[in-house]
Amino acid sequence: MTEPVSSDIRNRPLVTQRHASGSAEALAEIRDHLDAIDRSMMVARFSPDGVFLGANTLFLNSFGYAIEEIAGAPHELVCPVKHHSGLSAHQDLWRVLRSGRPYSGLVERVARDGRAVWLEVTYAPTFDQTGQLLSILSISSDVSLRVERERSESKRLWQSLVVDETDSAVIVTDGQWRIVYVNAGFTRMFGYHLDEIHGRRPIALLVPHVKPAVIEEAISSANAGRPFRLEELTFAKDGQRFWNKMIINPVRDTHGLLVNTVSVVTDITEAKMHEVIHHKGLDALARETPVVQIMDMICQEVERISPEVVSSILSVDENGRMHALAAPSLPEKFSRALDGLVMGPASGSCGTSAFRGAEVVVTDIETDPLWVDFAQIALPLGLKACWSTPIISSKGHVVGTFAFYYREKREPDVFHRRLVDVCVNLCALALEREAARAEIQKLAFYDALTELPNRSLLLAKAEQAIAGAARDSTPLAVLFVDLDRFKQINDTLGHTVGDDVLRLAAQSLAQGRRSSDIIGRLAGDEFVLVLPQCDGNHAADIAEQIQINLSRPQRVGDVTHVLSASIGISLFPENGEDIETLLRRADIAMYEAKASQRGGFSFFSNEMNLRAQERLALEAALRQAIREKQLRLFYQPQIRLADGAIYGVEALARWHHPVLGEISPVRFIPLAEDCGLIGELGLWVLEEACRQMAAWRSRGIDVPVVAVNLSPTNFHNVDLPDIIADLLQRFALSPQQLTLEITENVLLDGNVGTLASIDDIRDLGVRLSMDDFGTGYSSLSYLRRLPVSELKLDKSFVRDLQHDQTARALSEAVIRIGESLQLVVVAEGVEDQAQLNLLKQQGFHVIQGFLLSRPLAAPALEAWLAKRQPLLEAMSVGSF
Ligand code: C2E
Ligand code: CA
Ligand code: CA
Repeated sequence: MTEPVSSDIRNRPLVTQRHASGSAEALAEIRDHLDAIDRSMMVARFSPDGVFLGANTLFLNSFGYAIEEIAGAPHELVCPVKHHSGLSAHQDLWRVLRSGRPYSGLVERVARDGRAVWLEVTYAPTFDQTGQLLSILSISSDVSLRVERERSESKRLWQSLVVDETDSAVIVTDGQWRIVYVNAGFTRMFGYHLDEIHGRRPIALLVPHVKPAVIEEAISSANAGRPFRLEELTFAKDGQRFWNKMIINPVRDTHGLLVNTVSVVTDITEAKMHEVIHHKGLDALARETPVVQIMDMICQEVERISPEVVSSILSVDENGRMHALAAPSLPEKFSRALDGLVMGPASGSCGTSAFRGAEVVVTDIETDPLWVDFAQIALPLGLKACWSTPIISSKGHVVGTFAFYYREKREPDVFHRRLVDVCVNLCALALEREAARAEIQKLAFYDALTELPNRSLLLAKAEQAIAGAARDSTPLAVLFVDLDRFKQINDTLGHTVGDDVLRLAAQSLAQGRRSSDIIGRLAGDEFVLVLPQCDGNHAADIAEQIQINLSRPQRVGDVTHVLSASIGISLFPENGEDIETLLRRADIAMYEAKASQRGGFSFFSNEMNLRAQERLALEAALRQAIREKQLRLFYQPQIRLADGAIYGVEALARWHHPVLGEISPVRFIPLAEDCGLIGELGLWVLEEACRQMAAWRSRGIDVPVVAVNLSPTNFHNVDLPDIIADLLQRFALSPQQLTLEITENVLLDGNVGTLASIDDIRDLGVRLSMDDFGTGYSSLSYLRRLPVSELKLDKSFVRDLQHDQTARALSEAVIRIGESLQLVVVAEGVEDQAQLNLLKQQGFHVIQGFLLSRPLAAPALEAWLAKRQPLLEAMSVGSF
C-alpha cells in the first residue's frame, strides 16, 4: 500500500495544507484519512497541463498499467479516442481544471487492454502557498460493473420495444452512431441484413444525399436527449426509393451520455407524395389555376421527385382525340406531333391506354408494335420506353393519359407506380373540374332556352367587335329586336308555347347571318344583333330580312304563328362609340318603331330614318315598276371611227317615276341589287333589247348590235345561257347582234356558277364586253380569264384625257392591250372634239358619248340615225 508513488502523494497532500494547524494530532489524523482514501479509492495526480505525475496501486490495477508506463504520459492515455485532446469534451475538462475549479462526474476511460473503465471521479486542483496551481488530483472509484449492468438493462429495454414483427424499420446504433441492430422490418424495407451493415452509420447508408447540417442537428439533438425527426427520400439496397419518416430516439445513461440511438423508420411515400403533389395541386385548383398550368406543375413535381422520368399528360376529348396538356421536358414539336391523334388499339402507349382504359407498358419503343407509327417521334429524343396510365373520371370515362417516358429500356418500378397513383387522381380531378368549369361558363354566358349568348357575353363580344371596327374604320350596326305581341302569346297560350316561340325567333334571327355577326338574348322577348362591317343601308336590308324570316308561318303545337318584331337600329360610330350607348339608342329606336307601325324598324338618327324610309318607299316603287313594266330602255349609239358607220347601241335602263320623276340607274340599279330585284330587271332588259332589235330589223333599220349591261348577280342564275338562247331564237336574232357588258366584279363575288355561265354564253356566239375597263382591280389577269372580245375604256379616263398625262398614258395602254389581244376598244363618255381627236390619234376603234348623242328612246335614236351624216362630217369622223 505504501509504495513510492503513494508516499509521494502522502508527502504533499493538499489536505494538510488546507488544515495545517501544526499540531501532531492533526497531522496524524490527516495521515489516517489519506491512508483510508489510498486503500479504498483510485488516486492519480497530474501536472496542470495534464501529464501523469503518479497514481496509486488501485488506479494502476484497474487500468493494468505499471507506474513506469504511466508516469510522464498524457491523460489521454486512459481516455477513449473520442475524448482525446482536440476533442471538445477533453478540452472542456482541462479548461475547467486549469481555472482552479474541480470537476466531478461519470467518465469513460480505457484500460491498457482496451476494456472500458467507468469511473465516478472527482478531479481536484491543488495549489501552492502563493495560490499557484500545483497539480490536479483525481480521486475515483471504478463503477464499470454498474454501468455495464445499466447498459444491458437499457439494451433489453429497446430490444423489447423493437419487436421484429413491426412494419416499421428499426435501427439501433451505439453511442457512436454505428449500427448494432436492425429488425426484420428494416430488412424487409431496405433489403439489408444486419451482418451487411453492422457498424455503418444509418444516415450515410440510407440518406446519402442529406446535408451535413442535418447530420449535425441530429447529433446535437441526440446528445441533448431530444428525439430527432427526419423526412427524407431514402434508398434501399436495390436502389428503390421511399419517402421515409425517421425518428431518432437517443438513449442516454443516467449520467447523460449517449449510449444508443433507436431509430424508427416509417414509409410515408404515399403521404409525402400527397403532400407534395396533392396539396400543391389542390391549392392550384382552389386558386382557379388553368388546367394546363396544373398539369405542368404535376409533371414538374414528378420529374423533381423522379429525375429519371420524363412525364407527359394528354387529354382525351369526346371524339377520342388526344391533346397535349403538359410535357415540360419535351420539345414543343413532340406535343404537336401527338396533338389530335385519335386513340386506338395501336396508337403508341397513350392512345392505346386511352383506348383500352388500362395502363400500357412499352419497355422498348423501338420494337413494340404499338409504337410502329410513332417511334420516329420518340426515339430521336432519346426516349426508349413509355408507360402510360389512363386518367379516369369519376363517371368512369377516360379523360386523359399520364405517361412516363424513360431514357432506357425498362418498366416502371414500385415508386413510379405509387407516384402515378397519386397523380392520376389529381389529374382526373383537374380535368373534371375543367369540364365543370366549361359547363358553368356555358350556364353563365349562354341563355339556356335559346342557347344564344346572354347579356354579359353579348356585351363582351360586342365590345370586341366595336374595338375592331374602330381599328379598321369600318361601320357597325346594333339591332334591338323586340317581338310583337309576345306577352299576349305567353298569357293566352302558356309559357311552354312562349318558350317555343322564343326558340323559333332565335332561329329566325340566326338565319343567314355571317359568322362574325353576334346574336344574343337580352331578356324576355328582346334580342340584339351586333353586325360588324354593316352600314345603315345594309342594316335596313337585314332588318327587312329579319321581318321576312319572322313572318314565315311557323307551327308551334297546334297553332301556326306568324311573328313580327319591332327593330331599333343604332350605328357605330355615328350614334355612339361604346356598346352601352349603342344599345340604349337602338332601344329608343325600337320604341319608335313599335309606336309608329308594327312590324317595322327605325333608326336612332332622324336622318337615317328618313333615308331608310325613302329607300323603302323607292324599293317598293321599283318592285312595282319592274312588275308593271314601267321601266324603259334608252339607246346610245356607238360609231366606228374608221368609217363613221354605226357600230352598235348600248341599252341603258330608264325609270320615270310618276311622282319622283326621272330616277338615275346609278341609284336604282344598286337598289335593285340590294333588294333582290336585279335578276328580274336583267331579264326584262335582255328581253326588251332583243324585242327592240327585232322591231328595228323588221322595219329595215340597221342597228348591227345591242349591248346590254348585266350585273354580277345576273350570272348567278344558272339558267341565264338558256334564257338568252331562247330569246335569240324567239326574236330570230343572231348571237352576234347581242353583246353583254360585264365588269370585272363578276369575278369578285366568288360564285362558282359565274364562269361556267359566261363560257356557255360565249359559246352561244354572244360577245362579251369588258365595261369600265381601267377602274377597279384591272385587269390583265381578268382579261385572260374572261372570254371578252371588246374593251370599254372607262369614261373617267376619257374625261381627263386632255389635262392628265396619266389618263392619256392609260388610254394609250388600253388601246395597245386591245390591239395585242385583238379586241375592239370602245371609248365611252366622249363629250368633245378634243377628246375625239386624241382618241383618234391613239387609234381607238369605236366611240360613244354625248358628243355623238345622249342615250335616246328608240324613236329618237331612229331619227338620230337618219340624220347623223352631217354631224359626223362636222366631226370629221370617217373622213380620213
Ligand atoms: P355604264 O354601263 O358605264 O353606262 C354608261 C353611262 O355613261 C350611262 O349612264 C350613260 O348615260 C353615261 N354616258 C354616256 N355618254 C356620256 C358622256 O359623254 N358623258 C358622261 N358623263 N356620261 C355619259 P347611265 O345611263 O346613267 O347609267 C349608269 C350606269 O348604270 C351604267 O354605266 C351601268 O353601269 C348601269 N346601268 C344602266 N342600265 C343598266 C341596265 O340595264 N342593267 C344594268 N345591270 N346596269 C345598268
Ligand atoms: Ca355599260
Ligand atoms: Ca361604262
